[in-house]
Amino acid sequence: SGKELLQQYDAVVLAIGAMKPRDLAVEGRELAGVYFAMEYLKQQNKVNRGVTFNGERINAAGKRVLVIGGGDTGSDCVGTANRQRAEWVGQLEILPRPPEKRQPGNPWPYWANVLKTSSSHEEGCERMWSLSTRRFIGEKGRLTGVEVQEVDWIKTDGKWQMQEKEGTLRIIKADMVLLSMGFVHPVHEGLITELGLELDQRGNIKVDKDFATSQAGVFASGDAAIGASLVVTAIAKGQECALKVHEFLKKKTIV
Ligand SMILES: Cc1cc2nc3c(=O)[nH]c(=O)nc-3n(C[C@H](O)[C@H](O)[C@H](O)COP(=O)(O)OP(=O)(O)OC[C@H]3O[C@@H](n4cnc5c(N)ncnc54)[C@H](O)[C@@H]3O)c2cc1C
Repeated sequence: SGKELLQQYDAVVLAIGAMKPRDLAVEGRELAGVYFAMEYLKQQNKVNRGVTFNGERINAAGKRVLVIGGGDTGSDCVGTANRQRAEWVGQLEILPRPPEKRQPGNPWPYWANVLKTSSSHEEGCERMWSLSTRRFIGEKGRLTGVEVQEVDWIKTDGKWQMQEKEGTLRIIKADMVLLSMGFVHPVHEGLITELGLELDQRGNIKVDKDFATSQAGVFASGDAAIGASLVVTAIAKGQECALKVHEFLKKKTIV
């Protein structure tokens, strides 16, 4: 528990990632066949390693699989579903299709807002953009389709606003949906709550410039402190954090 960690160690670093997935609160969310991406991906990793897992086997074999969310996690779901021999794999994204090349307002070194096609996509995937998910449809408690609607993105007062396009409702036949719409913040239940740590406005662990949390001797780094990011950022932050913890421990030893 958090209390035991504080008793046993002079410094504790929380690098627990940002694993709380963004959910989709629409009609039919409870239907069998709708899963969070990480439930699916983690289970397949366990199967690959020959590790036993609890609960139902989530298998895309012979199914029509719709991945909701167009990021890296979604791309991993596409690849995994293909390798499990899904009948059809689709991926939908609420944002518009990105351009093939950087646009004038998006120069290097800023994050490149361009279309990314991974090897998973190349293995087979119908990619769809500017689609909002309205509801999940099912029969006898099991998913059979997803109702979607086309959306327009319009810039008003410098902010992008989404507008649903009338007359564009349609149903995509699917018997498995993988929700991969990003991660909102670290999981609060467990260590964060036990240690009584302060959170920032986005629900990440609040740290100061020295990676120190609101609890003396407890530090946080990586996605847990900055929110879901990238491997390179997590590595860089981890190194910076280690140096700060080293300084903290040296001061402690001298006292
Ligand atoms: C499916 C997926 C695909 C991704 N693809 C890419 C990509 O292609 N390129 C890229 O740059 N980034 C990618 N990312 C993001 C990248 O993985 C993260 O930004 C990075 O791993 C964050 O590193 P971290 O060390 O902060 O946390 P994580 O790598 O998330 O590690 C946190 C670890 O802490 C463990 N943990 C959590 N709670 C506890 C606890 N209470 N006690 C003990 N252990 C705990 C977790 O099980 C996990 O192993 C992807 C993320 C996901 C989920």
